Amino acid sequence: MSKLRFNVVEKAFQTKPVNVTVPKERPSEYFAKYVFNREKMFKYLPTDVYNRLADAMDNGATLDREIADKVADGMRRWAMELGATHYTHWFQPLTEGTAEKHDAFVEHDGKGGMLEEFSGKLLVQQEPDASSFPNGGIRNTFEARGYSAWDPSSPVFVVDDTLCIPTVFIAYTGESLDYKAPLLKALRAVDKAAVDVCRYFDANVKKVFAYLGWEQEYFLVDEGLYAARPDLLLTGRTLMGHEASKNQQLEDHYFGAIPSRVAAFMKDLEIQALELGIPVKTRHNEVAPNQFELAPIYEECNLAVDHNMLIMSLMRKIARNHGFRVLLHEKPFKGVNGSGKHNNWSLGTDNGVLLMAPGKTTEENLRFITFVVNTLMAVYRHNGLLKASIMSATNAHRLGANEAPPAIISSFLGTQLSKVLDHIEESSTDELISLGGKHGMKLDIPQIPELLIDNTDRNRTSPFAFTGNRFEFRAVGSEANCASAMIALNTAVAEQLVIFKQKVDALIEQGEPKISAIIQVVRHFIKECKPIRFDGNGYSEEWKKEAARRGLDCETSCPLIFDRYLAPESIRMFEVTGVMTQKELEARNEVKWEMYTKKIQIEARVLGDLVMNHVVPVATEYQTKLIDNVYKLKGLFPPEEANKLSAENITIIKEIAEHTSYIKEHVDAMVEARKVANKITDERKKAIAYHDNIAPMLEQIRYHIDKLELIVDDQMWTLPKYRELLFIR
Ligand code: ADP
Ligand code: MG
Repeated sequence: MSKLRFNVVEKAFQTKPVNVTVPKERPSEYFAKYVFNREKMFKYLPTDVYNRLADAMDNGATLDREIADKVADGMRRWAMELGATHYTHWFQPLTEGTAEKHDAFVEHDGKGGMLEEFSGKLLVQQEPDASSFPNGGIRNTFEARGYSAWDPSSPVFVVDDTLCIPTVFIAYTGESLDYKAPLLKALRAVDKAAVDVCRYFDANVKKVFAYLGWEQEYFLVDEGLYAARPDLLLTGRTLMGHEASKNQQLEDHYFGAIPSRVAAFMKDLEIQALELGIPVKTRHNEVAPNQFELAPIYEECNLAVDHNMLIMSLMRKIARNHGFRVLLHEKPFKGVNGSGKHNNWSLGTDNGVLLMAPGKTTEENLRFITFVVNTLMAVYRHNGLLKASIMSATNAHRLGANEAPPAIISSFLGTQLSKVLDHIEESSTDELISLGGKHGMKLDIPQIPELLIDNTDRNRTSPFAFTGNRFEFRAVGSEANCASAMIALNTAVAEQLVIFKQKVDALIEQGEPKISAIIQVVRHFIKECKPIRFDGNGYSEEWKKEAARRGLDCETSCPLIFDRYLAPESIRMFEVTGVMTQKELEARNEVKWEMYTKKIQIEARVLGDLVMNHVVPVATEYQTKLIDNVYKLKGLFPPEEANKLSAENITIIKEIAEHTSYIKEHVDAMVEARKVANKITDERKKAIAYHDNIAPMLEQIRYHIDKLELIVDDQMWTLPKYRELLFIR
């Protein structure tokens, strides 16, 4: 082992777990300690101000300047008691991460001194100098500045010495420059559309919430080993590395005992997450070595998205305190599973009904079926767009790569629910409704017991699976902002529910009784969305053919998948629901293509550097040693014997020569291909060139590097190997 490698590996294997100070109180007592929730609002704000703020939070009422000043003052006093000195507008630009710029709570007092102040104006709106955030051309002119505006539906919180204020980020001309603004619009659209449909069943429903429960997968690696791998450091994934002889084939890691160093990290993370009001609940080992999962209790979608962004930054920070680096990349290691972020999604009413859960009465079950079928129909109609919403340069390594999920969106319902839908499809409306029973009607839908669709009936290969009381969108990438998927899904469902209601109302107007009208439209959509239902093996070759026959979107190229955002049906959907305009969609796609290109470009550069600085020099050095040995054998033995004795080494010398010359040639070719692609000014075409011409070269070159890793003397190889990176002790 090279000296550098030896040192970092030694240190990694000897690192002891960090002692975590567990709060004396119980979690229920320290939960949301650093969140300005209703309890604190009530304590720190005058009653009339509290009521106005609650109205803004619940019903989107606007806050006038005077009230905002009082809210800001209460917030500041609370935050300063926790030691905060600064505040920041915390927003979610299109870079996938979060952005913040901190300002202190200080103002001149006019007498040569300072006082602590925080006004409503500063709380409500700011103009971050954010001209270098991706904007797809929307903010290219100097007058098109951007500003961040407070989102009262997500509470402010304190991290270290800073009061963080969740905000939307928009251009002065009104276009969204972030994920939160369109998400809030999508949630409003689905709320409105779902309330209208709910009222067929219950006139008292006032609001429908979209819920999200994410499951975050991640890898941990030792910090020293990470630092010795420039590819991990700069791209988030290993661009080379031969598989370890043992990885996940024994399936001994999944749900296995959590190593003590990792357990200490998790404990620390959970305490800090709970203090920030993130209701974390589940933790376990994942399938791949060093891979883990964390999941909270589900929450209202906007809050859940913020909490996921927050947990990812907490993970990055806390991992470092434990001598780890967290890898959120979708595919940090070849040959073992990648990481996803399952998005468990459902709708629920303000009176506590989960709309994706079967009920007790036949009427409740018709409502359940109505929402399930409309969701399926939305997913069917926009399956290409939903795929685009979870697509990225990094997630492309998982999608379609024979690992959850395939690059085709389909939905798994399980046998019981499928039977129910088949039954509705096949029976006549009169058969389904017979007089008598509750509310004067009885639906002949096979009785759906409460716990019907249980977890035994699961299909891990399905990208959009029904799991009892929710749908689980599994294709989301581990690094992604969940908002992207949630914007597309909630908007698609909103649009579909509106269409559904129009059809039902039209039938009612023609004199059809309500229930019968609903059943007829449900049946119509059950028939129409059939191609999206698939309960078989999503990884199989037959499915790819079958899906193409069914007309589902089978595109696998990332830059082309982004085109789906600009398909006429997508633009129409976003525009009629008021979520995004064509101009915004076009701008955001520019950003997507540009990001794709940059990611591949960086990977190509890093690989080129590593090849020239590590791989080729080390391989050549080893080859020289072998050549030296061959010459020495010649001096020692008669020619024939020397030839025999050095035959093996000569073979290796040749192999090394073949691999290194392939690598060098292809790195040069990759540089040339980049030069050609970089000249393209159209972002879409450039991304396509990077996808078609450069990305495949990374894999081809890697193949030869990994072969060299197997041949070259372990003592000389400088970069930590998979067997070292992947097994925390
Ligand atoms: P599994 O690994 O079996 O899919 P987990 O317990 O790891 O399940 O995660 C399930 C996630 O789904 C949790 O975040 C949970 O809170 C969430 N969830 C449960 N019910 C709902 C629901 N009705 N709507 C949205 N999310 C839900
Ligand atoms: Mg799950």
